[in-house]
Amino acid sequence: MPQKTLRFETACVHAGRSVDTGTGAVTPPIHLSTTFERKPDYRDDGYIYSRSGNPNRSQLEACLAALEGGADAIVFSSGAAAASAVFQSLKPGEHVVCSRDAYHGVLRILREVMSGWQLKITYVDSTDLAALKAAVAPNTRLVWVESPSNPLLKITDLAAVAELAHQAGALAVCDSTFATPALQNPLTLGMDLVMHSATKYLGGHSDVLGGALVAREAGPWAERLRFLQGTLGAVPGPFDSWLILRGTATLNVRVRAQCDSALALARHLAAHPNVEQVFHPGLETHPGHTLAARQMRHFGAVLSFCVRGGEVAALRAASRVKLFTRATSLGGVESLIEHRASVEGPESTTPKNLLRISVGLEHIDDLIEDLDQALAP
Ligand code: PLP
Repeated sequence: MPQKTLRFETACVHAGRSVDTGTGAVTPPIHLSTTFERKPDYRDDGYIYSRSGNPNRSQLEACLAALEGGADAIVFSSGAAAASAVFQSLKPGEHVVCSRDAYHGVLRILREVMSGWQLKITYVDSTDLAALKAAVAPNTRLVWVESPSNPLLKITDLAAVAELAHQAGALAVCDSTFATPALQNPLTLGMDLVMHSATKYLGGHSDVLGGALVAREAGPWAERLRFLQGTLGAVPGPFDSWLILRGTATLNVRVRAQCDSALALARHLAAHPNVEQVFHPGLETHPGHTLAARQMRHFGAVLSFCVRGGEVAALRAASRVKLFTRATSLGGVESLIEHRASVEGPESTTPKNLLRISVGLEHIDDLIEDLDQALAP
């Protein structure tokens, strides 16, 4: 069956994979070789040297292109490396409109690394389409948004962003890490590129770093991004690629179960006397709820909440959890809790009493009981 006809659940299991022709192995073999023999006439079989291409990486790229409905996928050693490649694909001096609420590491790349590139950057609240429209100019080359965003789970209208960007002749990119291809496909909403930290839900087990870019169209930009991948060499190793591909097989079922628990937990916390506010797009009170219901298939498995009693009370609750693990990151099978302002450092604008939760696959009642005892007076 041609892989583009596969339904999402089936593509998670089959896209990019085939039984190994040499051995009949059902699970893809891991190709550790860094170099590949050429034919006597010096032609190659598609692989030359592992920085420019590796079979495990190709399988992962084919899988992610299918899951996002893109023409091409280019994977990297981390989400940060993937984001860097996007900015490095621009010419020095070009204008970028970036969501103010983007992942703090992406903002740091722009501020502290790409400053040497002399990009002209306008930061906006991308949930405010009027502000976005005012920021996009005829010389804008790229619009970068993240939805849902970190850690306030703001929802940006991706179809509207793509239209605004295209009217100015700019490219539209969405960091869709929190949504995963199981919940949202930005390319089908008109975005030109979708970015993932594969470290999160794609890998899914907190044991591999990776990043991915999936392009709606094959063409000069995708070729430039692939050139940067091979030339700068921030590539995932064969085992990393293999682990992420293995993670994608269970992506759909993991994420759906995690989303169900996250929504139940968000509702529970919203009614908790020691919680001031809960941020989760599944709650009807969330400003992005209607939009999320339209452009996502479920509301995501990350939520944040502000603890009554300020930073001290938030840190105390985080210190008292027994089942949740106090650690940064998200998207693994185990539930994590973190005091986001501590992780983001001095530039952080995140409320000091905010805790962020990545909901794992534990029983919802165990998660509720753990948070209840942690939040008790
Ligand atoms: N984008 C988002 C939304 C993230 O949460 C992260 C990491 O937390 C990144 C990008 C960066 O990815 P990585 O840590 O794989 O470099």
